[in-house]
Amino acid sequence: MKLVIAQMKHETNTFSPVPTPLSRFATGCDVPPEGAAAVAAYRGTGSAIAAFIDLAEAAGADYVVPIAAAASPSGPVDNAAFETMAGRICDAVAQGCDAVLLDLHGAMVTQTHDDGEGELLRRIRAINPTVPIGVALDMHTNLYDAMGAHSNVIAGYHTYPHVDVYETGLRAGRAVLAMLAGKAKPTMAWGRAPMLPHVMRQGSDDSPNKELQARCRAIEGEGALCASLFVGFPNADIEFAGLSVVVVTDNDQPQAERWRDELLALAWAQRQAFVYQIEPLTTSMARAKALADAKPPGSGPVVLLDHSDNCASGGTMDTMTVLGAMLDAGLDDAAAFAIFDPTAVQQMIAAGVGQEITLQLGGKLDMPSIGLTGQPRSVTGRIKLLCDGRYRNRGPMFGGELSDMGPTAVLDTGKIQIVVISNHVEPHDLAAFTAVGIAPERCRFLMLKSRVHWRAGLRSLAHAVVECAGTGVCSSDYALLGLHQVRRPIYPIDAM
Ligand SMILES: [Zn+2]
Repeated sequence: MKLVIAQMKHETNTFSPVPTPLSRFATGCDVPPEGAAAVAAYRGTGSAIAAFIDLAEAAGADYVVPIAAAASPSGPVDNAAFETMAGRICDAVAQGCDAVLLDLHGAMVTQTHDDGEGELLRRIRAINPTVPIGVALDMHTNLYDAMGAHSNVIAGYHTYPHVDVYETGLRAGRAVLAMLAGKAKPTMAWGRAPMLPHVMRQGSDDSPNKELQARCRAIEGEGALCASLFVGFPNADIEFAGLSVVVVTDNDQPQAERWRDELLALAWAQRQAFVYQIEPLTTSMARAKALADAKPPGSGPVVLLDHSDNCASGGTMDTMTVLGAMLDAGLDDAAAFAIFDPTAVQQMIAAGVGQEITLQLGGKLDMPSIGLTGQPRSVTGRIKLLCDGRYRNRGPMFGGELSDMGPTAVLDTGKIQIVVISNHVEPHDLAAFTAVGIAPERCRFLMLKSRVHWRAGLRSLAHAVVECAGTGVCSSDYALLGLHQVRRPIYPIDAM
């Protein structure tokens, strides 16, 4: 038995000005790894490709890994990057295999294709029309028909923050191995609901997604091979952005369709609960101060969530609106993670640790899609720390995987410790702070550029959280984004 195992992951924010060349798909190296290097990078981590590797080795199968490529979310993927990644996978399939296991995202848009995953799967099917194909997908998948039509098994994460990625790989991989062994005949039903849930309301610890994901697990308990509800990724101006469902059964198409219809109806009935109400920033800042004044001594920080500029949703991670409001308000005993500004980091490296410096911080990237130019802010502080910015996640999300912030500096204004980084990394792991010598649990305020994933490794530290609407291409304001390509009518853009 020979398997092709590959990873090609990108969540595309079509409003993001951050470019997406091939190098963005490599963490800690210049190009995405293949073969033994790919296995070494992912074995033992909390990724779906790690699950595929474990399953293949447990089954005594031969396997090849033509590429392991994962990029932080950003703008549409360069055509050259897509052709390289898809080409390596297709070349491996063309050399012959018994099955293909793919660790994909599900919301990849390239310069040419609105459905990058569907295009990859279509090409694989053209090479081998019958080879079993299993796919693990992120809960933020925007499902196109080509993904279902050109694969045999699809499994999606059941959690957001995504802490069951490895388990999702196991579900997809086991169904395909059962198919190869003649023990299962996977059949699949999929469909979409005309709704665009706001990301800030998608957390699987919150209703209604908590109950929807619980129902997916229950359906698997009742006999489905995989039952997945995708909340979708709305910061993508494409036809099929939004919520979808895929159910895989063992040779029972009518039952797959019944479960699909049940899940879609449950989600549709909860559509109003997925709508996020944006609070004005001035109100959020006042609430944060009041919460900090009232909190007991020794309790954790008040988290200020800069959710419009989350790099793990394609944000530039360099807008200064929320950090600027904190500076203006004189908040002290605070830490901020992080501002993406490679130029500022180089200026601090040139100055050296311990020196005082005044920087034009952040605001380097314009955002023409929402009519904004970058607005740096003059900040003065002491350079507290310089480092290479690499650390291993301790989990529970993507545990064991390498994170690479690139050259990194901490600028201490006397009131706020500002982490300044050179690669986009979202704060979802405590190791992001220990890597730069900050104990977040001891801070009074903690500013995070994140939406939901921060909860994975940091929520247990927080005394309270205040969601701060700053500036950026991850805005939850659909009117600001201007979604023109998405199918209509769709809720909540249209009253349905
Ligand atoms: Zn996701």
